[in-house]
Amino acid sequence: MEIPFSPPFVNDEIINEVVDTLRSGWITTGPKVKQLEKEVVELTGCPEALAVNSWTSGAILVLKWFGVGKGDEVIIPAYTYSATALSVIHCGATPIMVDVLDDFTMDPIKLKQAITKRTKVVMPVDFAGLMCDYEAINEVVKDKAVVSLFTPASEKQSDLGRILVLSDAAHSIGAKLNEVSSGKATDITIFSFHAVKNVTTAEGGIICINLPKPFSNEEEYKLMRLWSLNGQTKDAFTKSQAGGWKYDILFAGLKVNMPDLCAALGLGQIRLYSQLLNERTRIGKAYEAFFSNQAWAKCPILVDEKRVSCNHLYALRINGINEAQRDQMIEYITDLGVAVNVHFIPMPMLTVFKDLGYRIEDYPQAYKNYAVEISLPIYPQLTNEEVSYICSTVERAYKSLL
Ligand SMILES: *Cc1c(COP(=O)(O)O)cnc(C)c1O
Repeated sequence: MEIPFSPPFVNDEIINEVVDTLRSGWITTGPKVKQLEKEVVELTGCPEALAVNSWTSGAILVLKWFGVGKGDEVIIPAYTYSATALSVIHCGATPIMVDVLDDFTMDPIKLKQAITKRTKVVMPVDFAGLMCDYEAINEVVKDKAVVSLFTPASEKQSDLGRILVLSDAAHSIGAKLNEVSSGKATDITIFSFHAVKNVTTAEGGIICINLPKPFSNEEEYKLMRLWSLNGQTKDAFTKSQAGGWKYDILFAGLKVNMPDLCAALGLGQIRLYSQLLNERTRIGKAYEAFFSNQAWAKCPILVDEKRVSCNHLYALRINGINEAQRDQMIEYITDLGVAVNVHFIPMPMLTVFKDLGYRIEDYPQAYKNYAVEISLPIYPQLTNEEVSYICSTVERAYKSLL
């Protein structure tokens, strides 16, 4: 059997949606993007959603919108994809990494200890489809002592009056915390629509805006939209209408809008999302049924008292092995035709961050999680037969170590 890790879900309905865009005479930002934004608002309950061309560009946009720059600090977990940190670096600010919990999400106690008067934003990461403990994290940023330390240096920072909680929700569209959907649990949430994510537009992302008073989410949507379109007062669609040629550039914005051609792919997917989520859950439960009976295996949390995962990744851990043995297992599994992965190599183990002085020794839980982790394939197209084959292949790989 040959089982790929994460092929995109594309059916005739989705293909028709893309072809419809190609035939429509309008391929960049226009009606399909508007419709996708509306679908995300309906799915999550967040007040406004702005589509962009990646999670990464969305994060840079939000940080710039909030006035984050040189001398500022943004707290992130050490255990994430590098884009979380790079978006901060691209704004000239400093990523402050903190360790994670056994469940892979940011440790709220470590977060609190890392806060200084330079902290402007905290960017927790919803790992594998499981949301962070935002009750605890929101409580930290609203703590009296933490609020009094906050030193605003932009109009938006003054309006908020505290650290902004910006969720890296690249994995968590469709997940829930206390019945609240990802997208509505923090000030701002960004989903990724990259090709391997639960919903994809090939490349893309969406910013869910859920700011408290005195902000008007509608006004901030309009402003962020300007940020995504060079700070230009008219988008290409409006300018293409007869008599619409005149425009102004209000400030040095980015150019990170999503094209309709991509939005069409995402629209086709998001309309099927509750079905696709059920299929992901089917696979997550099948893995759990098998691996929870193996003493050597540690299953990820799919559901707990507060949270329901959207089963983006299945992050299995192997008890009692070391990093080299994990690598050996992966080689064995790969040889039998199953593509697996590791999420994530902690950032302090990567050259760019080592060069900046980060050390993995400072993040023992991140290393511990990483060294024994193997991400198994999980996507709607996987058959039960394939899932059984993956389970027995992982079991054989473990036994091959003995
Ligand atoms: C995929 C991913 C990103 C980056 O998403 P892009 O849309 O490719 O920019 C950021 N954070 C996490 C945790 C991711 O998995």
